[in-house]
Amino acid sequence: MNIHEYQAKALLQQYGAPISDGRVVLKAEDAKTAAGEMDGPLWVVKAQIHAGGRGKGTFKEADAGEAGGVRLAKSAEEAANEAKKMLGRTLVTHQTGPAGKQVNRVYIEDGAGIETEMYLALLVDRQSSRISFVCSTEGGMDIEEVAAETPEKILSFSVDPATGYQAFHGRRVAFSLGLEGQQVKQCVKLMGQLFKAFVEKDMEMLEINPLIVTDGGNLKVLDAKVSFDGNAIYRHADIAALRDESEEDPKELAASKFDLNYIALDGEIGCMVNGAGLAMATMDIIKLYGAEPANFLDVGGGATKEKVTEAFKIITSDPQVKGIFVNIFGGIMRCDIIAEGVIAAVKDVGLTLPLVVRLEGTNVEKGKEIIRNSGLDVIAADNLKDGAEKIVKAVKG
Ligand code: GDP
Ligand code: MN
Repeated sequence: MNIHEYQAKALLQQYGAPISDGRVVLKAEDAKTAAGEMDGPLWVVKAQIHAGGRGKGTFKEADAGEAGGVRLAKSAEEAANEAKKMLGRTLVTHQTGPAGKQVNRVYIEDGAGIETEMYLALLVDRQSSRISFVCSTEGGMDIEEVAAETPEKILSFSVDPATGYQAFHGRRVAFSLGLEGQQVKQCVKLMGQLFKAFVEKDMEMLEINPLIVTDGGNLKVLDAKVSFDGNAIYRHADIAALRDESEEDPKELAASKFDLNYIALDGEIGCMVNGAGLAMATMDIIKLYGAEPANFLDVGGGATKEKVTEAFKIITSDPQVKGIFVNIFGGIMRCDIIAEGVIAAVKDVGLTLPLVVRLEGTNVEKGKEIIRNSGLDVIAADNLKDGAEKIVKAVKG
């Protein structure tokens, strides 16, 4: 789960991290009051969307003005005007895709004077199964670009879970960033605060780009991007409350309401599968036969008729979908029950797209018979390969 920059900053501030004073604005008429509550002489107006690269982004609408999603202003009036221009407009960055994202919230901040911009991230390193620090002197820019062109400018090391965070970790970050004197102390403290927040709140990633040295010589968190482990959200009511559903794919949102493991993709073949591993294999084999999956979907072991129907509705709500491949292994579930669920769902949804069903496992013969006798135009498949070939053929001809 992702949150907005202003929410991430408020959270990190609870752990003592230095951030600028700021106000979030949802309605244009509130922009002036919010900007007026800060002293200046510099204001920063930042579009709040769940995507990075806002500064270099562009708006689709001409009346949004020239600059991107991060704008500097020299007075409260100017800041309020910039905020008004951004609200309701669509910001396109290299992370949003060409469709862009509508800006429904802007954050007005007390502008900082910048001496240096640096990069810092904490993440779960799957290779070492540990939390890692990643830092670089090349802050404020695309870290992927730095990694590709000058990887030697990125330092990464993991923290032993047996010791947890220690001051030497912080000093290692500080020295690699070229910090000196008071800043080293600040860095050791800040890294400890960030690490604590990361662990306590079950974060998956915490990226600060840029972390800055201000013109006053102090460290400050200037941008913050946080994502949380979705499986741990139930432990954090405070984090769950930060969810902004308008930022999520409507299909994924609907799926989460029915406890379906669904991820929207760009292809033309909708997939309905039970088991995450089988769902992955199904996507792979669709690609192998020359088509693209429209989604990942694991309906789970105990899928009911209602769940199967909802899954069909979500899959068919995607206008890109040209055919559906149902691939079920009846292990915990019986194939006849699944077949009944699929037939009922197809009738309920009024499906007109080609549908290939592959069933295997307990009561498979009974299940196949139910599908044969349903009178519906369902293409039966004998195995994974057969099913993939048939759906790709049905969609691509
Ligand atoms: P992003 O483009 O979505 O990553 O948004 P950032 O929050 O990282 O802002 C982009 C850039 O705007 C930063 O790298 C800074 O150069 C600049 N910027 C952001 N906040 C301030 C500020 O308070 N003062 C100054 N002078 N520049 C800022
Ligand atoms: Mn940034």
